[in-house]
Amino acid sequence: MQAVLEEILEEVRPLLGQGKVADYIPALADVPANQLGIAVYSADGELFHAGDATTPFSIQSISKVFSLVQAIKHCGESLWERLGHEPSGQPFNSLVQLEFERGKPRNPFINAGALVICDINQSRFAVPALSMRDFVRHLADNPLIVSDSVVAESEYQHRARNAAMAYLMQAFGNFHNDVEAVLRSYFHHCALRMSCIDLARAFGFLARDGACLAGGEPVLSPRQAKQVNAIMATSGLYDEAGNFAYRVGLPGKSGVGGGIVAVVPGRFSVCVWSPELNQAGNSLIGMAALEKLSQRIGWSIF
Ligand code: GLN
Repeated sequence: MQAVLEEILEEVRPLLGQGKVADYIPALADVPANQLGIAVYSADGELFHAGDATTPFSIQSISKVFSLVQAIKHCGESLWERLGHEPSGQPFNSLVQLEFERGKPRNPFINAGALVICDINQSRFAVPALSMRDFVRHLADNPLIVSDSVVAESEYQHRARNAAMAYLMQAFGNFHNDVEAVLRSYFHHCALRMSCIDLARAFGFLARDGACLAGGEPVLSPRQAKQVNAIMATSGLYDEAGNFAYRVGLPGKSGVGGGIVAVVPGRFSVCVWSPELNQAGNSLIGMAALEKLSQRIGWSIF
């Protein structure tokens, strides 16, 4: 595995320069583009990594999986009265379906859906940003994980589109807390800084039917873990979910920080990071690396 990871990074490195680092906020536009890391964590706890796998980066939309898991733990199936679990076929920050579908987002991994999930968690936790930080510290077994307050503040200053979604949902009665407070929680989750190793480890429970490696209380039941993997497989890469299924064939979740996490149920969790994005806002080199890895090891769930 170690040799395969190193080989793959060398094979995909020449793609550098073909994508574009996220520039909707200055704090992300400044991230050096030439960083590339990968980590693979086996279901029984073996870790392999190559490249810049220990460098923390902004997890952005990968946080939507953690928020969803928190909401599932507290609400169970009633969650789905507030949003769907269908792919949207639209960019992550699209507003169009919200108007037609009366403020009910298609799924938890587009921004509108993640905002509803954050609204649900806002009702539950006294300080949602801290509950989330502690939850990911526990999952990744790393007490040093923090949220970057400069990134979170910058996202808040550029919140117009996310705010528009949240207020539209409020107008339809599908938002129960103060919109500005929920936006702040959401941006704090997006601004969490984690490395490939942290993320591969934090997603391990999805490769283990919801169980923690150390035993004890499971993160999710086997059925819930299967459901989260299913939503990742159908909606984790927004309007490129089909392409990701076609090329990689695994449940996955991306973020505009350039990270992509994928799960091989029963076997591995993986995180790859390269900041340059393609047109859909997914890591261009990350996609290529996961495609090669999945192909090389025969991982596709299809
Ligand atoms: N913070 C970003 C936003 O809300 C997250 C988007 C993403 O990673 N796709 O626009």
